[in-house]
Amino acid sequence: MPELPEVETVRRRLESVLLGRRLERVEILDPRLTRPIDPIEVAAELKAERIVALDRRGKYLVVRFETGRALLIHLRMTGTLLHVRGGGVVPDHDPHLRAVVRLDDGSDVVYRDVRRFGTWLLVEPGEAEPYLQARLGREPLAPTFTSKRLGEAFKGRRAPVKAAVLDQRRLAGVGNIYADEALWRARIDPRRPAGELRADELRALHRGIRAALKAGIARQGASLRDYRTPDGGAGSMQHEFKVYGREGEPCERCGRPIEKIRTAGRGTWYCPGCQR
Ligand SMILES: [Zn+2]
Repeated sequence: MPELPEVETVRRRLESVLLGRRLERVEILDPRLTRPIDPIEVAAELKAERIVALDRRGKYLVVRFETGRALLIHLRMTGTLLHVRGGGVVPDHDPHLRAVVRLDDGSDVVYRDVRRFGTWLLVEPGEAEPYLQARLGREPLAPTFTSKRLGEAFKGRRAPVKAAVLDQRRLAGVGNIYADEALWRARIDPRRPAGELRADELRALHRGIRAALKAGIARQGASLRDYRTPDGGAGSMQHEFKVYGREGEPCERCGRPIEKIRTAGRGTWYCPGCQR
């Protein structure tokens, strides 16, 4: 569930507490987190690494170390990272705890994951960029992402535009929530073939994607079920949704009830009145 705005919120909150810190102790409690690599091996490799940067690429958090190595964290459905200032986290007390990292200032970074789909991948110097590049398309909030680039990514695609927006290899970081919100903002029916959008519609969608993501970041993301900010707080974007999860409620633009359909194999909310 965490999409670009949620992961970016986590990144911004954790950046100030992680930069310059050394990993004093690393406990990985769930082998699924690092498989097929042995979690004990990964924990031993991480120990004593010093964090020099915390970046985001799509929905990945990229923890960069002084040695040039990087830890690629993907939260998938229910992964959350919490920063506990006083430290002293006892793993036995929480069945969903998957990893605990003690930093050299005595604080703990705790990774929880109820559904256990999240992943931690430690890569060697120079490996992070090729790995991410092979899996991810353009960053929608990068200055180099234009409506022309969006058109190039969609060119010749007969798939519904909703599916094209969700395709991480073309556009990184947008998931089900922000795809629906972006298409509503752009007034585009999610079932339209992506390759058939006109230049003015591509411009509207480009604006819609960026506006929806920025609104999500400004509200610290959307807390529907498991997502929490690293201090344990909740985001508030769920109160600002225009269509997502709002079937039967009136569209704020035209008054028609929002409908829920299935597109690209996903529950999709849209307004039949003003999305064409
Ligand atoms: Zn409408």
